Amino acid sequence: MPDEAQNWTTQDVATVLRYLGSDPETGLDSSEARSRLQRYGPNELQEQGGRGPLLMLGEQFSSTMVLILIGAAVISAFLGKPTETVAITAIVLLFALLGFVQEYRAERAMAALKQLAVPVVRVRRDGSVREISARELVPGDIVYLETGNLVPADLRLIESVNLRIQEAALTGESEPVDKETAALQKADLPLAERRNMAYMGTVVTYGRGTAVVVATGMETELGRIAELLQAVAPEATPLQRRLDQVGKALAVLGAVVAVLVLVIGVLRGEPLNDMFLTAVSVAVAVVPEGLPAVVTVTLALGAQRMLARNALIRKLPAVETLGSVTIIASDKTGTLTINRMTVTVIDVAGHTLELTGTAQRPPSGLARPVEEPLVEQPPTIALVLAVGALANDASLQPDPESGRYLPVGDPTEGALLVASRQAGIGPDALRAALPRVGEAPFDSERKRMTTVHRLPEPLPSSLQPLQNVATPFVAFTKGAVDGLLQISTHVWEDGRAVPLTDAWRERIERANEQLAANGMRVLGMAFRAVPVEKAEEPAEALEQALTFAGLVGMIDPPRPEVKEAVATCKRAGIRPLMITGDHPLTARFIADDLGIATNGRVKTGQDLDRLSPVELAQVVGEVSIYARVAPEHKLRLVEDLRAQGHVVAMTGDGVNDAPALKRADIGVAMGITGTDVSKEAADMVLVDDNFATIVSAIEEGRVIYDNIRRFVKFSIAGNVGKVLVMLLAPVLVGANVALLPLQLLWLNLLTDGLLGLGLGMEPAERETMQRPPRSPQAGLFDGGLRRHIAWVGVLIGFAALAVGRAYYEPGDVEGGTWQTMIFTALAFMQIGQALASRSTESSLLSIGLRSNRPMLFLVLITIILQLLVIYVPFLDAFFNITPLALQDLGVAAFLGLVVLAAIEVEKWLLRRRPQGERRG
Ligand code: ATP
Repeated sequence: MPDEAQNWTTQDVATVLRYLGSDPETGLDSSEARSRLQRYGPNELQEQGGRGPLLMLGEQFSSTMVLILIGAAVISAFLGKPTETVAITAIVLLFALLGFVQEYRAERAMAALKQLAVPVVRVRRDGSVREISARELVPGDIVYLETGNLVPADLRLIESVNLRIQEAALTGESEPVDKETAALQKADLPLAERRNMAYMGTVVTYGRGTAVVVATGMETELGRIAELLQAVAPEATPLQRRLDQVGKALAVLGAVVAVLVLVIGVLRGEPLNDMFLTAVSVAVAVVPEGLPAVVTVTLALGAQRMLARNALIRKLPAVETLGSVTIIASDKTGTLTINRMTVTVIDVAGHTLELTGTAQRPPSGLARPVEEPLVEQPPTIALVLAVGALANDASLQPDPESGRYLPVGDPTEGALLVASRQAGIGPDALRAALPRVGEAPFDSERKRMTTVHRLPEPLPSSLQPLQNVATPFVAFTKGAVDGLLQISTHVWEDGRAVPLTDAWRERIERANEQLAANGMRVLGMAFRAVPVEKAEEPAEALEQALTFAGLVGMIDPPRPEVKEAVATCKRAGIRPLMITGDHPLTARFIADDLGIATNGRVKTGQDLDRLSPVELAQVVGEVSIYARVAPEHKLRLVEDLRAQGHVVAMTGDGVNDAPALKRADIGVAMGITGTDVSKEAADMVLVDDNFATIVSAIEEGRVIYDNIRRFVKFSIAGNVGKVLVMLLAPVLVGANVALLPLQLLWLNLLTDGLLGLGLGMEPAERETMQRPPRSPQAGLFDGGLRRHIAWVGVLIGFAALAVGRAYYEPGDVEGGTWQTMIFTALAFMQIGQALASRSTESSLLSIGLRSNRPMLFLVLITIILQLLVIYVPFLDAFFNITPLALQDLGVAAFLGLVVLAAIEVEKWLLRRRPQGERRG
């Protein structure tokens, strides 16, 4: 099939379909689709530069750390110390394996997340429309495109309704291209001119269409260039970059200390060979080997935990940035509310119909409120409902379980269909009777949509008011009332159009505001006779000189869990903002209800347009509700908030929201209602569209950052202790070499490898969401970390030295009890340190040992491994150890408790400090 690729454009639709063995009415059948999937493979681009497991394992051996160790092993071999060589090699392998397993897990976790982010495509298969993953598309599939979709494969268009596609990804041209279906005359046109094709990776910015898949995966135009594209390196998070620097600085420090040890040793007359080996392992002891692996794993597992709470992370740095979010700017509909609209009020000149009685107050209406029975509608109410059903892309599908009709599509439109059905105006029959011949789709700038229909003879009863329309076509418009009034010239009153005077405008605006003030979304309905078929007319030409027919008010209740989430935000020093396309009063009602509004002030998009940058900066500081905003306002708000130093999470679902999502620190897209384009632009996708999920993700983000800090603090303090022991032993103990290289490596493996991993799995602390966000400028070591590392390092180091001194007799040799005591005391002290470091401020007693079970398990393993080394004869010899008497072991374990207690005292002191002085 690829050979024919150039011909897709010059053949007519029927020929292309015949060639592909497809039929737009039925689509492919499942078995054919399956066999084509086998033949052509999944529709995905092969990733360039993806790291296979072998490469990943190989990389473990190329880190500076491992190279130093390998050097040490080789040197030992030359020095005639085969045991050391074997042992160091074994430890290198262990480290490499540990690093590999952790990184592999992290990579798998991220790959799984990526799979979830593949777009879903609407296709026709076996005669019905269904949603499948874009990966499963095969040539011949019939695909439906709508605004906001990413084009999922290379397609030949078979239907285009104002379809416009932005092809910058392929052609570099950012202006969207109008698409059509007719065969093109010339073959071999450049991509940008193939107007009846849609290419993978491009974006539908307007209209809708149907198309047949002609190429998938690497056979697509994008696939062809994908091979040429540079592989995108996985983005390192700021923290990873910072820790990389820390690692490098420590490596330099390690080298300096190593040279010091070497020089001191040689000056004291130690054999050069021994000292050389010791120096190398001191260098290794300084560097926290586990750091990169623990950080990668903590971030990746954190992303998985976020997914379990319905937040899908698309970019790893987001995991970390989430922890410092200071503002959540959220859409209203669907994120703060449940997005289940119900029409409750219909208001036309002279009549008001309350559908369910759920409106909080009877609206005043355009005129006097009159209760009407549901069945026999006054003609204008029926007309309003008919407009709502016709200018509408949703549908009603029977639910096999309840037997009721459920709306499918945009909830606003679904609600209108349900209402018209309840009122006895069969929407399906109406649509069949008035075929749609043109349309101007909804967009969030105009905030309305229009469809053009051919009028049948005779007119259905709901459209009787239109019987005097002399044209064969009529346009129906529904949308935001304020905008609609601006383009209306008449209002429908008692069966005729009367001029829309100022008095009328005022009455309609008042009715609109009254409904909105009760939290309702209000849509106006209007119509206009059009003489000729206006299928291709631009929206501006179609939407003018309308006759206003009436208002529909619908409610969309807040999500029950959001109120609590908003309160949590506020406790956590995060300011929630509402940014909505809806009416200011609707916005304020919902914001009040949820506790978002502090002062009830609302600004509209128009207000924002009028403000200077300075004024805007002030407004943004004070106002939490923004209504009637268009996507470009979102962009302005994000930029302004960021300029003020805020870290902004912003939600968005439409195509036009993509720039704001990209600009935000955390762009948040909607998993259910969001367009592909918004998801592509986002850092995080809410699987359930729920505001509360953002708050959960922020909590996880804070936990992850805390855990990484915990690990850094634990690991570096421990290493400071070990280095002190190595440096000061000649002076304070009398022994030249406090610990042998192997013993040091073993300790690092236990602490960084096992205990460190346990710290990375610490669950949320109680006060995680009760303190202000971490400042993005704050360094990793701010908030007392340096002080803690210093004193804990000194404590551990001097305690170990004291033990050494107590057990050392002049003339003792290496491997004696004194050395085993230093070795074992260090192991136990680091266990105590790890347990006490689990919480920044709370005592271990109050959080309980069992609140981090993996840690408990890892502590047990560490103890068992340490005891094995001390008491299994073969290992003794290997590590040069003397088995300890029980009371000596008790001394070492006691020192572990001392360190634990000391850190607990530090936390107790921290808890007693006033709130403001605690660490952020
Ligand atoms: P939020 O930003 O809070 O999620 P939203 O995204 O629902 O709000 P839009 O969808 O941009 O906001 O809607 C803005 C306005 O456009 C609504 O207040 C309504 O008046 C109008 N509107 C919404 N949906 C439709 C529709 N399907 N047809 C016509 N007009 C609509």
